[in-house]
Amino acid sequence: MYWPGVISHFADYLPVNPRTPELTLQEGSTPLIRSQHIVKHLKLKSLFFKFEGMNPTGSFKDRGMVMAVAKAVEEGKKVIMCASTGNTSASAAAYARRAGIQCIVLIPQGKIALGKLSQALMHGARVIAIQGNFDEALTIVRSITSHYPVALVNSINPFRIEGQKTAAFEIVDWMKGVPDYLALPVGNAGNITAYWKGFKELFNRKEINVLPKMIGFQAQGSCPLVTGIPVEKPHTVATAIRIGNPASWKGAINARDESGGSIEAVTDEEILAAQRMLAGEEGLFVEPASAASLAGVLKKNQAGFFQGKETVVCVLTGHGLKDPDIAIEQCRDRIEELEASEEKIIEHLELSGEKHD
Ligand SMILES: *Cc1c(COP(=O)(O)O)cnc(C)c1O
Repeated sequence: MYWPGVISHFADYLPVNPRTPELTLQEGSTPLIRSQHIVKHLKLKSLFFKFEGMNPTGSFKDRGMVMAVAKAVEEGKKVIMCASTGNTSASAAAYARRAGIQCIVLIPQGKIALGKLSQALMHGARVIAIQGNFDEALTIVRSITSHYPVALVNSINPFRIEGQKTAAFEIVDWMKGVPDYLALPVGNAGNITAYWKGFKELFNRKEINVLPKMIGFQAQGSCPLVTGIPVEKPHTVATAIRIGNPASWKGAINARDESGGSIEAVTDEEILAAQRMLAGEEGLFVEPASAASLAGVLKKNQAGFFQGKETVVCVLTGHGLKDPDIAIEQCRDRIEELEASEEKIIEHLELSGEKHD
């Protein structure tokens, strides 16, 4: 079946009008993959992964970016700007080029994963690395875009949230209902805000009659929504959620409280273990931040939270190829080096006893 992208497919649910350009890289329609292996370690009825790494630039950011860039073009803007830990800039750069406009990104110097940086540069964005963190970059971008004819495309742009809520619609379409829990990583908190908005809209339209509980997970070293206090120097291996003062703070707390869910912290070790588990057991390669959702579910399972009858969807926000450095660091020592000899390799693999004619 032809998939036109989120603006066309979900037009009835989005703030579009005849003047909105039909911008698309055919984002959305990402797979909802049933867990076959990890679920066996858990006291759950079923576990699914919404693999957002399958979007055109490799993260869920494309859903909101297509909407934000289309609206910027509709408003006559020729330049967009964002602060980014990486994926927002990759997505903004790609959609700006698709729309034929310019893109400027502000990134925290040295703290952005290689895959993401290469995307922004290849798509021709102007990339400015600042000696500061994401929160500082966002403050500058907010100020510039409020005084100059440049469109802000961070997730405080309400069109980002509008586009991102379409992931909730897809989950409901595919499951013919809602999961009991939706688990997701939380950084700037736009995504948890967007999913909750999406589910509530379907509820208000009577397309579903129950709502999922939203369970969000932050990294221990940058978990302001868990402690209630902004973090001045956030740190975590999961750079996409290395955010000390989430822009959608209220949206996240609201999603948590209205749904009866929670926002908790997971350690970097737990995040990386979940990342290895997804790749090693299910065949799903995600970037570290994305594994926070599964890390959180594993932690809650360990604490005896589940009863065995629940259905959980873990959102896997971005692709593993985004951050090859952290992946390789974890497994470089598994490369086995041998000379180019068939005999040596057979011996090394202990295959000699298994030869057939
Ligand atoms: C942006 C991002 C997040 C965090 O999403 P927020 O909307 O900022 O909470 C998580 N994972 C990945 C891969 C991201 O790119």
